[in-house]
Amino acid sequence: MNTREDIIELLNLSSIQPLVDEAARVKGEYTSNKVFFRGLMEYSNICSKNCLYCGLGCGNSDVGRYTATHDEVMEAARIVLANNYASMVIQSGERSDRDFVKSITRLVGDIKEMSSGRIGITLSCGEQSRETYKEWFDAGAHRYLLRIESSNEELYYKIHPNNAAHSFKNRLDALYTLRGLNYQVGTGVMIGLPFQTVEILANDLMFFKNFDVDMVGIGPYIEHHNTPLYAYRNLIPSKEERLKMTLKMIAILRIMMKDINIAATTAMQTLDPNGREMALQAGANVVMPNLTPLKYREGYAIYDNKPSLNEDAEETKAKLEKKISDDGNVIGFGEWGDSIHFKRKQR
Ligand code: SAH
Ligand code: SF4
Repeated sequence: MNTREDIIELLNLSSIQPLVDEAARVKGEYTSNKVFFRGLMEYSNICSKNCLYCGLGCGNSDVGRYTATHDEVMEAARIVLANNYASMVIQSGERSDRDFVKSITRLVGDIKEMSSGRIGITLSCGEQSRETYKEWFDAGAHRYLLRIESSNEELYYKIHPNNAAHSFKNRLDALYTLRGLNYQVGTGVMIGLPFQTVEILANDLMFFKNFDVDMVGIGPYIEHHNTPLYAYRNLIPSKEERLKMTLKMIAILRIMMKDINIAATTAMQTLDPNGREMALQAGANVVMPNLTPLKYREGYAIYDNKPSLNEDAEETKAKLEKKISDDGNVIGFGEWGDSIHFKRKQR
């Protein structure tokens, strides 16, 4: 099943159940069905880039821009501790000015200090210089998420402007830089993009395998009405097809890369209220409850209909935790939940 042809055949299957069953078996054997929570803080929607699919692109003048305060991020960190999640993701629009870089460095250091090192920190703040990545690593961040978005260069340039700020090569180089600095590296792609084919998706899976990633976040592409890619919405598969294809991708990936961390993404939940749970059943083992202050949620609309208000409030969280346990998972409370794959490589 490790050849490209095998993967294409599996992606073309009409029934997903056999794949999901096998992925569940592998997940049980290699990860003991442990599921980890990371509190997600959407720190700022200010972005210097203009990815053609994303509602936060600088070309969208309809969106009110915000940056959370230092105190608000620290408050989210306290919620992480109170819920015993032990891990946090700080995600943001991409900026590389010194003020931004410094604010992240300070947040990482302060979260580490406040929690006496108990909170593991994942960053997802786009492409940065080696110096910046190192500064953040030295401050205490140890995992980084940077999706390649598509491993197919031609498709990459159909969904990004073709200019220096959106260079496919730079994105790839950034992943290698992160790896060289000893971060646990996560990447991923969007599924159901216009112009995307099953062959391209199979190559994406091969890309994860060849890069030997530690973590993957794959989720459906969801249109945003105020982006250039919206003009091609008639070319994208239906919601049901995108959901199904994402589940197949997750299941195949779990079977291919048995001990990596795979996220059940919020975009899955946008396509189906149970989308995240379905992803967990298909092999995912990480969930990122949103801890962004409610007043900013609307501002972080990377796609249309992103779950926002009230999402992951106390009651919702309790329900989510119960559902996850009922499905046979064990929530790794109090653990960083590092990628077993990464640790195995270190040894
Ligand atoms: N600026 C950072 C992190 C924030 S965006 C970065 O780009 O890496 C985080 C992710 O949101 C992106 O990697 C992209 O895969 C996803 N995303 C953006 N627009 C989307 C859309 N319309 N549908 C689904 N996912 C989207
Ligand atoms: Fe900015 Fe990230 Fe959106 Fe691209 S995907 S426009 S870098 S927030």
